[in-house]
Amino acid sequence: MSKYPGPDIPPPSYEPPTEASPSSSMPVPPTPATADEKSYGKAVQPQQPLLQPEFAGYSTLRHGPIQMVCPYCGVNVVTEIHHKVGVVAGVGALLTGFVFLPLFWVPLVMKSCKDTVHACPNCHRFLGRVGALQ
Ligand SMILES: [Zn+2]
Repeated sequence: MSKYPGPDIPPPSYEPPTEASPSSSMPVPPTPATADEKSYGKAVQPQQPLLQPEFAGYSTLRHGPIQMVCPYCGVNVVTEIHHKVGVVAGVGALLTGFVFLPLFWVPLVMKSCKDTVHACPNCHRFLGRVGALQ
């Protein structure tokens, strides 16, 4: 057991206070009116890039049929829906297969695990796809 006589605590770093810049020789009168101008600032409007090269489907699509105007044939239709195996069903089948192999097919047939594909009943064109987790 030996004690060091040196100080344990390092000396605190000393920073000189930066209050008023002494470079301006002219005395500035207090102007409280200019303080309001700072709060306004610049109204920056963020531009949202429209990343829609072509019709990619409606964001209002749900897992059930909806009424909408077909962008291709212009007819007010109720969409046809089909359930297709998507990423969620595929991953679910893999995980289920790891746990209990004979039941790997269950996520592949469950509607809640499949994507919903909307199509126009008039022109039968693709209108949008809703993921299983959406
Ligand atoms: Zn159509």
